Amino acid sequence: MSPSAKSTAHRARDIGLDVRSPKERCEDAHCPFHGHLSVRGQMFEATVVSTAMQRTAVVERTILRRIPKYERYAKRRRRYLVHDPPCLKIQVGRLVRVAETRPLSKTVTFCIVEDLGDAARRTSGEDIVPPAPAHPKEEAA
Ligand SMILES: [Zn+2]
Repeated sequence: MSPSAKSTAHRARDIGLDVRSPKERCEDAHCPFHGHLSVRGQMFEATVVSTAMQRTAVVERTILRRIPKYERYAKRRRRYLVHDPPCLKIQVGRLVRVAETRPLSKTVTFCIVEDLGDAARRTSGEDIVPPAPAHPKEEAA
């Protein structure tokens, strides 16, 4: 990497994902933007539930899972422990984008890569759209 002239102090690495780079800078070796952590694999959006741990946050994701017997969807929740780079300044209640990384600890294999704003502003549940039915109702029936 050649040291480019423009604002090297503020320069974040290109992590290969279409996300906004953090405005702040940090010294975290496990920060995808300022450290050496590579992100690859899954990406999803989740709501931050807790940031009480050091550089680790708890996020929760709700998905709709189809129950074939009842031909309806059930809400499923799952919580993940994710790495929380200090430069993003993530707070509880934020909607964040999370990307998969190598295992950072026994339970942490994801990292927050983008702050998507206040989760409460997004009407909860309405973002979760069930996939289109495989067999749409017949017009004649
Ligand atoms: Zn950082």
